[in-house]
Amino acid sequence: QSKKALTDNVVIYKPEMEEQMAWRLGIIRKLRQDFEQGKLEVWFQPQLNLTSLAVTGCEALLRWPSGNGNYISPAVFVPLAEDAGLIVEIGQWVLEQACQQQKRLESMGIEISIAVNVSVPQFKVRGYAKRVKETLLKYQVKPKNIELEVTESVVMDELNVVINTLKELKEFGIEVAIDDFGTGFSSLSYLQQLPLERLKIDRAFIKDLPDNDSGAIASLIISLGMRLGLKTIAEGVETQAQADYLKELGCDEVQGFMYAKPMPELQLIDYLRQRKLIA
Ligand code: C2E
Ligand code: MG
Ligand code: MG
Ligand code: MG
Repeated sequence: QSKKALTDNVVIYKPEMEEQMAWRLGIIRKLRQDFEQGKLEVWFQPQLNLTSLAVTGCEALLRWPSGNGNYISPAVFVPLAEDAGLIVEIGQWVLEQACQQQKRLESMGIEISIAVNVSVPQFKVRGYAKRVKETLLKYQVKPKNIELEVTESVVMDELNVVINTLKELKEFGIEVAIDDFGTGFSSLSYLQQLPLERLKIDRAFIKDLPDNDSGAIASLIISLGMRLGLKTIAEGVETQAQADYLKELGCDEVQGFMYAKPMPELQLIDYLRQRKLIA
């Protein structure tokens, strides 16, 4: 490439990058504002035992209303909130919402666990485990009723810090799941070093089931879980054929649109009521 072409590139790409930066800053500013004004929501998606179809828990999922009943996907804004460090505060708020929801359901007669997603920057805050413990104590939630979902990126970040944090949480009684398992390209050796409860098979390996290649991966993850004494849960189950296949392989639990979509708190209560799980 000539020198001229290089300078041209710089001139061509610079405004685009600035536009992107401005877009990101704009989103983050609005997110912070809406968060502070109490406009964010936490929805819940049921998780079921694949054999009995009993509801075993719910995953708490952030929702950011953008008006007219529309929502900006957390897949878009969570990574921005992570970069801006804003996820630390928002994540703490989600945990508190999950605790309150867990207590509310318990008082209605159903004791299920609530899973909360945790990002890398949250884990990096000193005293993270202590803060989680204090939060559960504040709401008097039993530790076994809150599960933390961490991705392999958390594990890969600073394994020694993570091991200690997870051990502290485990001693307290909090269970940890590896989310999006199989998409992280990390060494599997961490599985032996961390006190884990569950592997969540990523939707990418579920969506084409019972197709052969996805089947091989799902099957491998389930066997791995069995051998390591970890439960397995499949996310994104949408069809009976997928469910049948997973059941055949011995997968423990499922979460997906086929059973229930993520829903606001009141709708979750209706859902549980319809299934006679609460009065
Ligand atoms: P995730 O933790 O892997 O959550 C599962 C995602 O799969 C959710 O997307 C859920 O709505 C979706 N899903 C569940 N069943 C099905 C299905 O049958 N079909 C399809 N197509 N999708 C299904 P959602 O709610 O858009 O969240 C996206 C991601 O955003 C989450 O992925 C998680 O990584 C992140 N996220 C959401 N809430 C939080 C939060 O409170 N804190 C953090 N740190 N991240 C969050
Ligand atoms: Mg998750
Ligand atoms: Mg997941
Ligand atoms: Mg996923």
